[in-house]
Amino acid sequence: MPLAVCPECEAEIHVDEDVDKGEIINCEECEVMLEVVGLDPIELDLAPDEEDEDDLEDEREY
Ligand SMILES: [Zn+2]
Repeated sequence: MPLAVCPECEAEIHVDEDVDKGEIINCEECEVMLEVVGLDPIELDLAPDEEDEDDLEDEREY
């Protein structure tokens, strides 16, 4: 099983071999949401916070 590193806490994360780019996984250490941004090697980036996006959309409506 491939290993990736959490950009938040640098913990090693086991990623499914058939994971796809753009998939969201959770770090088991800090429970942050991570997006798969690369597959060879597997790279993870912090996933955008959906709650923040909702807040921004609400502000635009005013
Ligand atoms: Zn982490």
